[in-house]
Amino acid sequence: MKDVIIIGNGPAGISAALYTCRAGLSTTIIGLDNGALEKAEKIENYFGLANPVSGRELVETGVKQAKKLGAELVNDEVLDVMWMDDFTVTAKSTVLQAKAVILTTGASRKKLKIKGISEYEGKGVSYCAVCDAFFYKQKPVSVIGNGEYALHEVNELIHTASSITLFTNGTELQADFPQSVNIIKTPISNLYGSQKLEGVELADNSRVSVAGLFIAIGTAAAADLARKLGVETNVNSIVVDDKMSTNVPGLFAAGDCIGGIMQVSVAVGEGAKAALSAIEFVRNSKKAVG
Ligand SMILES: Cc1cc2nc3c(=O)[nH]c(=O)nc-3n(C[C@H](O)[C@H](O)[C@H](O)COP(=O)(O)OP(=O)(O)OC[C@H]3O[C@@H](n4cnc5c(N)ncnc54)[C@H](O)[C@@H]3O)c2cc1C
Repeated sequence: MKDVIIIGNGPAGISAALYTCRAGLSTTIIGLDNGALEKAEKIENYFGLANPVSGRELVETGVKQAKKLGAELVNDEVLDVMWMDDFTVTAKSTVLQAKAVILTTGASRKKLKIKGISEYEGKGVSYCAVCDAFFYKQKPVSVIGNGEYALHEVNELIHTASSITLFTNGTELQADFPQSVNIIKTPISNLYGSQKLEGVELADNSRVSVAGLFIAIGTAAAADLARKLGVETNVNSIVVDDKMSTNVPGLFAAGDCIGGIMQVSVAVGEGAKAALSAIEFVRNSKKAVG
């Protein structure tokens, strides 16, 4: 059991790790790639840079600094976070537990422009298989996605649904799905139904009847992970208070994933604040046990 798991190794996550490590908390950072900074050729508006550096260089230096202070870095994709007294973080190749979690997964860049998605949210469209699979017992359900995250949601649904259709929405598969899953690659044009979702209409005008549609495109963004925990979100941003606390005790968020000004300096400051709150939370929970 770790004290803190930080999801994301961008400026917000690394900054948070510097504080949690220096406070003596065991810290694991799980990150997939260089995040938004991968494409930033030149950063020159951040403190301390006499000469501009590339985004990648800035991340790599930050990662080195956090490791030097004792942070463990796991290069993996987080698929799910569960909370029951402690947090269980499920990544593609590992499952870890922690007393506190800091979400710093950056801004969601996924855009799913399908007519009807927001209209049917809570009426058939869901973002969390583990939360909502129960409502679709013995009913035909579907998942939109093509990778590990979609596979994770399929595996949550497979034991309860009568059938599962995977819509890749025009993209190629990036994971091995069970044979029983019906795979449709034709793009989706819209969703239909009267009071609630009844099915999906495809670009070739054919229709597929489904009772539930689970959104799992790309990598799980902070808002996807947060929704699974019942965290308040505002569109794709996580709602936090001025201490970077979410409405789930022990869960904090910082950086681009909470919206606002998306800049390295802001992400670093918010990461530090989230860490200070996490440190207080972990210390108090240790006191309560001891
Ligand atoms: C092209 C470009 C140029 C920019 N130039 C500047 C600039 O000059 N100056 C400036 O101040 N800002 C700039 N920005 C903005 C800046 O990059 C962001 O504000 C900053 O990186 C936000 O930090 P973050 O830690 O919140 O998120 P990110 O840096 O996006 O980091 C997110 C982290 O989360 C990880 N992650 C996401 N999902 C998962 C998952 N499911 N499992 C595991 N890990 C996950 C990613 O791998 C990454 O490590 C630029 C952005 C872009 C796109």
